[in-house]
Amino acid sequence: MNRFPIYNPNTNSIICDLELMGFDETIKVINKASLALESWKSLLPQERSDILLKWYYLINSQREEIAQIMHSEQGKPFKEALVEVDYGNSFIKYYAEEVLRIYGEISPHFRKNQYCINISEPIGVVGAITPWNFPCAMITKKIAPALASGCSIVLKPSEETPLTAIKLRELAITAGVPEDVFGIVYGDYKEIGRAILESKQIKMISFTGSIGVGKYLMQESAKTVKKLVLELGGNAPCIILKDADLDLTVKKIMLGKFRNSGQACTAPNRIFVDKSIKDEFTNKLIKELSEAEIEIGPLINQNAKNKTIELLENALQNGAKILYQALAPQQQKSAFYFPPTVIGNLNDEMKIAKEEAFSPIFSILTFSDLEEVIDRANNTNYGLAAYLFTSNLKKALSISQELNFGVIGINETSTSADKTIHGGFNESGLGREGGKPGLLEYYENKFIVF
Ligand code: ADP
Repeated sequence: MNRFPIYNPNTNSIICDLELMGFDETIKVINKASLALESWKSLLPQERSDILLKWYYLINSQREEIAQIMHSEQGKPFKEALVEVDYGNSFIKYYAEEVLRIYGEISPHFRKNQYCINISEPIGVVGAITPWNFPCAMITKKIAPALASGCSIVLKPSEETPLTAIKLRELAITAGVPEDVFGIVYGDYKEIGRAILESKQIKMISFTGSIGVGKYLMQESAKTVKKLVLELGGNAPCIILKDADLDLTVKKIMLGKFRNSGQACTAPNRIFVDKSIKDEFTNKLIKELSEAEIEIGPLINQNAKNKTIELLENALQNGAKILYQALAPQQQKSAFYFPPTVIGNLNDEMKIAKEEAFSPIFSILTFSDLEEVIDRANNTNYGLAAYLFTSNLKKALSISQELNFGVIGINETSTSADKTIHGGFNESGLGREGGKPGLLEYYENKFIVF
């Protein structure tokens, strides 16, 4: 059996290696998940809820250990990893509670002496495919509602960060989730993907990752008509109006940008500043960047660093200027580290304004007309998150209606929580995660007349 290595991006050393699973191994896991489905879905919602709550408390009691695993395989600082464990775990508690509030419906009957009811049934075996940037939360926001609703799962975490996933699963099993109800596969992602896609037993795929892979999953899912929930990234505009509180704006943009070293699909990517306050905003941002204590981790790997350098060089060749670049902190030893950088003199046609930067680069663009900047903000295939900074709430709400994005932060760049609804317009995806809609995705409606 072949094996594959897991790297520590902080030290570029190998942590361990794992069995390289492929098509056949995945089919076995799918078959087991399919066999285990009936007994799991026949438990009372309260029984599944109790197991999920046990899982929540187990994770809580081992949060530091999980954060340490995540820090090692993903590179984010330990403190940030700890925040992610708590954030990820909140989905488990939320769905353990929310599943107790799933009701059916009585429809108007259409014949005398008959009744019509609609009931919710778990959709079946779910394939969950997750990325490396949030190795805990991306998993729990899929697995918790799936398990709560009565689905069984085949999880394929990213091959960059499978160790957090393995640990989470281990704790789920300790809490009482049957092993086969929560299957896990990793290794040859293409062959694993092929097995999931070809299987008639898999009724739904919940995926977070790139648009390219999302489109491939859609195309291949057509053969067995699987349901898809997709979160495919973003190119978040951040519009700063001249009446914005600039101290707050700088603080919030830095928080949004430094989450996971900029490797988040909701990171502010195109910072559009009203021309009249561009210098004031830029100077404040640079002052804060040079004075604040910033702890960010390295990028995930050499490819990510190469892509960052390529985007930056492309911008510079086309006239952009570096306005500020931090020095790497002395204790930072990773070859994949990329320092906080501010660039200006950009235009919308540059690659860095068109693609997800996925790095701590602050790209500053300017505007002088509100309608123009709304058009420019909307001029992207993406549609996940958008941010708006202004002191005029009425104006902010009216601009929010014009922005074609699934998530809008007004004077805020932190928008995701267990209770909030997350998902994108356009090519940023289909369906929603978080909140009640994130649970309802895992149900089929059954209509009964009698
Ligand atoms: P990223 O650029 O964030 O790594 P990807 O879309 O490449 O985004 O990967 C997200 C997840 O999708 C990862 O778990 C990866 O292994 C998986 N993946 C990539 N290609 C395929 C594929 N052809 N079939 C199934 N899963 C895939």
